[in-house]
Amino acid sequence: MHDLDQERVAREIKERNATRVLLQLPDGLRPTAFTLAQRLTEQTGAEIIISGDSCYGACDLALTQAQTIDADLIVHYGHSPMIESETPVLYVEAAYDFDAPALTEKALPLIRDWDGVGLTTTIQHIHRLQEVADTLQAHGLRTAIGTGATTHPGQILGCDYTAARAIAEDVEGYLHIGAGRFHPLGLAATTGKPIATANPYTMEAKLLPEKEVIRLAMKRMAAINAAKNAQTWGILVSTKPGQRHIPQARRLQRLLTEHGRHATIILLDEITPHTLANFTEPQAYVDTACPRIALDNPPDPTRPTLTPNETLITLNQKTWETTWAQGYLETD
Ligand code: SF4
Repeated sequence: MHDLDQERVAREIKERNATRVLLQLPDGLRPTAFTLAQRLTEQTGAEIIISGDSCYGACDLALTQAQTIDADLIVHYGHSPMIESETPVLYVEAAYDFDAPALTEKALPLIRDWDGVGLTTTIQHIHRLQEVADTLQAHGLRTAIGTGATTHPGQILGCDYTAARAIAEDVEGYLHIGAGRFHPLGLAATTGKPIATANPYTMEAKLLPEKEVIRLAMKRMAAINAAKNAQTWGILVSTKPGQRHIPQARRLQRLLTEHGRHATIILLDEITPHTLANFTEPQAYVDTACPRIALDNPPDPTRPTLTPNETLITLNQKTWETTWAQGYLETD
């Protein structure tokens, strides 16, 4: 179970004299949102309103909703601070506890021969990362935990691997503590190193298959090539506070125009097949919002959706060789 830290949240609400609180939870924590809201109401007397919109990351902070209801506090679960906010925000990590030494032992056979192991994880497991390092060191492995733009050393996001990149030269591969393929694939695309994953929910460890990384690279190369002939481009900008990259969108618009393309900015909250369905003119999209939309969930299979870096490759401003596995998801 994730630790919802209910006592601390109630204490903070009271100490801050908050009377109207917007509660924001990612999808995985919503099954218990009503119970949490009810208990916080009982403990604090504050009005607790649940945000029902998306909560993909700290980039998706519900600032507009908070203003709409005149909230004096946002309680945001599952992520760590990313953006400034006028409305006070209480971040709750929703830590998930696990037996770090036991899980590390499972990963050991996969990484035993590596000359240096970089450690990464997400916010839910960050509290156990040093224990993972200690266990590996006890087995004679050299470990490194990098510091990047994220809140904690070793912490990565789907769009931010700076903590991993900071130690890339010191390690042969990475052990990522977390579930699923989302972060490991991003880590591979950004660093080009082998990735082992240790899943605290299943207590299993695996290597990320190289064929999955190659498949992703081939898909991205195909999208870049397909976009080369596109004359009309839609530049997607999200209104989500941490994805609102308007200056970057304008720079890309200028660049595309200088290269003889027609480029128009489309501003929207959610980039989905549904929200783009009626724009029939663009032959390609640039996604300046969450880069994982282009990589993992392109809104239209018939038209390429590129990240800003991929757009620069299309326009011969960057090369594939100097971008793939070298900060592929980072933008200037
Ligand atoms: S921009 Fe995308 S990957 Fe980055 S935090 Fe937001 S949802 Fe996650």
